[in-house]
Amino acid sequence: MTHPRTVVVAATATGRDLAVDLARHLGADLADGRPRDAIAASWSRADALVLVVAVGAATRLVAPHLTDKHADPAVVCVDDAGRFAVPLVGGHEGGANALAERIASHLDATPVVTTASEAAGWPSLGELGARTGLRAEGDLATVGGHLLGGGAVRVVRDAAWPLGPLPFATTDDPSAPLLHLTDRIAATPGPVPTVRYRPPSLVVGVGASRGVSAQEVGDLVDTALADAGLSPAAVHTVATVDAKADEVGLLEAVADRGWPVVCLPAEQLAATPVPNPSDVVRAAVGTPSVAEAAALHLGGDLVVEKRRTAMATVAIARRPARGRLVLVSLGPGAEDLVTPRARAELADAEVVIGYGPYVDQAAAFTRRGVRLERFGLGEEVARAERAVALARAGHAVALVGSGDVGVYAMASPTLERVGDDVDVSVVPGVTAALAASALLGAPFGHDHCSISLSTLLTPWEAIEPRIEAAAASDLAIAFYNPRSRGRDWQLAEARRILLRHRPPTTPVGVVRDAERPDQEVVLTTLGDLDVDQVQMTTVVLIGTSISRVVAGRIVTPRGYAGDATAEVPA
Ligand code: SAH
Repeated sequence: MTHPRTVVVAATATGRDLAVDLARHLGADLADGRPRDAIAASWSRADALVLVVAVGAATRLVAPHLTDKHADPAVVCVDDAGRFAVPLVGGHEGGANALAERIASHLDATPVVTTASEAAGWPSLGELGARTGLRAEGDLATVGGHLLGGGAVRVVRDAAWPLGPLPFATTDDPSAPLLHLTDRIAATPGPVPTVRYRPPSLVVGVGASRGVSAQEVGDLVDTALADAGLSPAAVHTVATVDAKADEVGLLEAVADRGWPVVCLPAEQLAATPVPNPSDVVRAAVGTPSVAEAAALHLGGDLVVEKRRTAMATVAIARRPARGRLVLVSLGPGAEDLVTPRARAELADAEVVIGYGPYVDQAAAFTRRGVRLERFGLGEEVARAERAVALARAGHAVALVGSGDVGVYAMASPTLERVGDDVDVSVVPGVTAALAASALLGAPFGHDHCSISLSTLLTPWEAIEPRIEAAAASDLAIAFYNPRSRGRDWQLAEARRILLRHRPPTTPVGVVRDAERPDQEVVLTTLGDLDVDQVQMTTVVLIGTSISRVVAGRIVTPRGYAGDATAEVPA
């Protein structure tokens, strides 16, 4: 599609190279001369201007020409580096939003769309599904423009790969533009504008004789995909046998198509049952099948049985859809202690699960279209099981927790329940102990540990010797779960044990609700620590025998002997 009468204008030499490329891509005219003159000359005859000019300068340049939004051309600014496409005027009526979307998808840039209906932080259609390896193809500009204009789309998925939250209206109307998640080429013919999402679903098994040409392998694979109606963009991996790890023609054909290769040991392939085994192949490479066995080893079902040319074989398997489970740490509470990685994962989650208040906190980073599932205190197993079940069903799930999700939190009960049929990742966070440590100064400047005083899942007989050992070895200690309703004696007991090893003057910090609105930081000593004042959402930090208070802050020196800072760069 060519945007009608588009003119591309550049201000600098670098911008000029980009402008040449954009003009070619858009089928647009490239203006010569100074931007001021080029804009004046094109304003009334062009439907759209693409200015490779800074937004500030572009604003000044177009200002004298502006009349009204129905008559003015669309204006899109692109920075010299091609990182952003900014619709400046004519977003809806002029089509600048859609044009920016189209430019962004060509340059792999970010469209900076500021008109009201898009302000909710929509991803571009190209960004949807990117985290799970889905690739968008097709009419991105038209469908993107339709969405930006407030239209609805029909969504069809052949398999449940996670696409991410859909922040726009969807419809069952077959005449609406279509988002189709499919690895099949001709799956969605018809007149409606269509964006196809290609899941990484296909595994292509390849076998070859020594000296095969890249052409022969490439043609065989291309034809096998085409005859089966499968998209090359859905190829996840090419798999072969170890012995072909240096087969030049095979590697070249695969590299030309941008696919990763895995080489599998012959014994592993021999153990995979296949429909078309061959004694000749067994004699040559030690497995009765290479192509079919390799495809099946990584894939699910064989969709193309072995096909061959004189020197190559191919078979194709389809992997089952894989959901995604991300364990996201939210930090102690403050919004600016949520890491950018955690934010990005939350933005891509289709479902966010967790203890109610944490889900509320996470909601700030999610996109429209997300589903929030809040659980009560103590429902850890139910939370974990729900998250795993949804991910198995092909969703993009974020399970959230405070501090670090792996520290006295949801990561362990969840990872105990998840197999290798789901893609899992864990996003680390700032723990309560680290947040408290920062508020107190530098209590953890030397060796330190965390001990939970909760006897809910751990008997006191297991906890007590740890306190004893930590106290005896002069570790700084963060006590988690120091107290809860109906459980109030453990901290007093811990203090008693510590006083047997450390002086009553040892610095102690009591930090309640670190980085939350009710934050309270109390600096005291082991002797003066009033255990009855300590509450549930509190960590208690105990200094070592060499910790001291400097200007109201706990400092634990880096070593015991003099000034030991020289050993390690600070
Ligand atoms: N995953 C969390 C710990 C959960 S266990 C982390 O990494 O920090 C719950 C205990 O953590 C609470 O009883 C309390 O001891 C401590 N805690 C959690 N958040 C806190 C905060 N903001 N301030 C102080 N202590 C906190």
